[in-house]
Amino acid sequence: SEKFRDKTVLVTAAGQGIGKATALAFARAGATVHATDINEKALATLANESGISVRRLDVLDTAAVTQAAAEIGTVDVLFNCAGFVHSGSILDMKDEDLDFAFDLNLRSMVRTIRAVLPGMIANGGGAIINMASVASSIKGVPNRFAYSVTKAAVIGLTKSVAADYVGQGIRCMAICPGTVESPSLEERMRAQGDYDAARAAFISRQPMGRLGTPEEIADLAVYLAGATYTTGQAYVIDGGWTN
Ligand code: NAD
Repeated sequence: SEKFRDKTVLVTAAGQGIGKATALAFARAGATVHATDINEKALATLANESGISVRRLDVLDTAAVTQAAAEIGTVDVLFNCAGFVHSGSILDMKDEDLDFAFDLNLRSMVRTIRAVLPGMIANGGGAIINMASVASSIKGVPNRFAYSVTKAAVIGLTKSVAADYVGQGIRCMAICPGTVESPSLEERMRAQGDYDAARAAFISRQPMGRLGTPEEIADLAVYLAGATYTTGQAYVIDGGWTN
């Protein structure tokens, strides 16, 4: 398909997992994709893909985000995928974990949106897709306090940006996955000590009896980028978990 021919897509956290699958899916749809991450080794796995250029970008660094946006130029689609999962309840959590979660999971999106939105508006429109989670305002998930607080805020950010810029051709949507196979999920399962038990526990809460794949989330991101009559919504993609 060439649906995104002549479209420029910027993806954060594109080195692995959902971000990587989404960069590949947009490239397959004909887009010019800027795949960014802090992990240059991970980015190198995309370097030879046609339609994809890779660039180191730390979304915690406002100056770097501003500079990258200036160098890339007008963006048609921004996919804010960067995020980190802290484990623990409110009593387990360190204040610095909450600060870091807000910085990476939420403020990173404030940085990238501020950097690309004026160009999108000048260009007549664009789509912004933000990675949230069902662990947010959608569902209380045990041991995900800092994570869920910040992912709920992502939904608020999404709705606010959508409301403010709907008249200028900007659409802003959030994606709310359940549990998705990814390198960081593998790490979280290994960190629990008994890997097989941890994996079985994640799967046992899934009505479909399996975890999602990064490609399934990427499909939704590409769909939303071209879904021209929707904005301001949070799209749940969780294998029926919250149904
Ligand atoms: P992952 O966690 O395995 O990879 C995250 C990537 O983010 C890594 O490549 C890492 O280098 C990059 N990154 C970390 N800090 C960065 C920074 N400061 N600047 C730029 N890049 C940075 O990937 P994943 O599990 O697919 O998660 C991607 C997103 O999806 C996250 O926002 C996550 O919260 C969200 N999500 C994941 C799941 C899941 O089950 N995997 C579920 C719901 C939501």
